Amino acid sequence: MNFEFTEEQKLFSESVRKFALVHLENDALKRAHNPRFPFDVAQLMNRQGLMGITIAQADGGQGGTLTDAVIAIEQIAAVCPRSADVVQFGSFGPIRTFAEYGTPAQKQRWLPDLLSGRAVMSLGMTEPEAGSAATDLKTAAKPDGANYLITGAKLFSTFSPDAQIFLIYVRFGPGVGGIGSVIVERGTPGFQIGPPSSFMSGEEWCELHFDNCRIPAENVLLGPGGFKKQMSGFNVERIGNAARSLAFGRYAFNKARAHAATRAQFGRPLCEFQGVQWKFADMAIKLESAQLLLYRAAANADRGFPSAYETAIAKAACNVTGFEVAHESVQVMGAMGYSRESLVEWCMRRCRGWMIAGGSVEILKNRIAEHVFDRRFDQRKRHADAAE
Ligand SMILES: Cc1cc2nc3c(=O)[nH]c(=O)nc-3n(C[C@H](O)[C@H](O)[C@H](O)COP(=O)(O)OP(=O)(O)OC[C@H]3O[C@@H](n4cnc5c(N)ncnc54)[C@H](O)[C@@H]3O)c2cc1C
Repeated sequence: MNFEFTEEQKLFSESVRKFALVHLENDALKRAHNPRFPFDVAQLMNRQGLMGITIAQADGGQGGTLTDAVIAIEQIAAVCPRSADVVQFGSFGPIRTFAEYGTPAQKQRWLPDLLSGRAVMSLGMTEPEAGSAATDLKTAAKPDGANYLITGAKLFSTFSPDAQIFLIYVRFGPGVGGIGSVIVERGTPGFQIGPPSSFMSGEEWCELHFDNCRIPAENVLLGPGGFKKQMSGFNVERIGNAARSLAFGRYAFNKARAHAATRAQFGRPLCEFQGVQWKFADMAIKLESAQLLLYRAAANADRGFPSAYETAIAKAACNVTGFEVAHESVQVMGAMGYSRESLVEWCMRRCRGWMIAGGSVEILKNRIAEHVFDRRFDQRKRHADAAE
């Protein structure tokens, strides 16, 4: 067992750090408080080879590993946390599932714009009646000659105010086996995008409504039976969420550490009070242990999809750690930490969202418990007759 990065990984990490310091440090605060997707950063990252890190070179990506993409998130977030969302989009988000399962024609049509930072994609899975119980989704795709008619609604989709392309989970028929996904472009007749609403983090999302929205059959990404494949792809997204949670927690930790080393009260720097030292020791324990779980999940997956269990345990640990560390960092920095002059409170608000998004901590714990007991625990209410 080796806990060191390879020489290649160290060089990559250093090059991303330098890129971030030169191009992203200056406007980090402004960028974080702007809810719009930073297309300028995506275009810069494309030129730097930081888009599509986990996507095959044949598809226009970099052909790197999940660990490479985690390293990129860590180094970018350490300088400009908001820009780490672009790494997420380019290497972990729905684009990864799309690149894995898209037809050559679909990839040719949409990947060049997505990877060059000219367009962003949004994932529509959650519905008013289907949150954690994602397989309860109702949005339907009905065949209509050479087309499909899409009807239904989606909520909370990240990047939806800016996205040109939407990967929408739909139901072709009953049950889990009836679920698949389609691509819908902004502007398609029958597809309405509502006005933006805000999350606690300042991120915005729009309600998506499909009213007999006609799409060609070529826009089907995964037909009936595609749900399992979609969830395997979704585990990659979870690694990206975990990596950002941890990186944002570490960003806050580093700011708080610098503050505690220099801010004096009662004639001494804050770091000389044991009550403050122990906060940092606790934070360091949490950060280091979650980091190992994250690296394990990413490294074991290599270029493929990570295991559901290792992803669940890594995401739960990183989500909770990121939030707790950012929260404690706010406390250590007092009113300055609570102020929008620093990004520490913003990191805390962003980390809070990842405890809910992309598989809440509770849903992940359900998955972990199934592994512990080596059996499935059905979360659904049993029918009265079945219980008898
Ligand atoms: C920042 C952010 C970004 C998001 N981005 C997207 C996106 O891009 N695309 C998209 O489709 N959706 C997105 N979502 C929505 C997200 O996927 C859902 O919020 C999530 O699946 C939870 O669903 P819900 O909010 O309806 O909560 P509910 O499912 O109603 O759950 C409410 C609470 O009950 C708990 N709970 C539910 N079932 C169980 C159970 N069986 N055991 C234990 N506890 C349970 C949950 O953990 C939660 O704490 C985003 C959400 C956030 C916060």
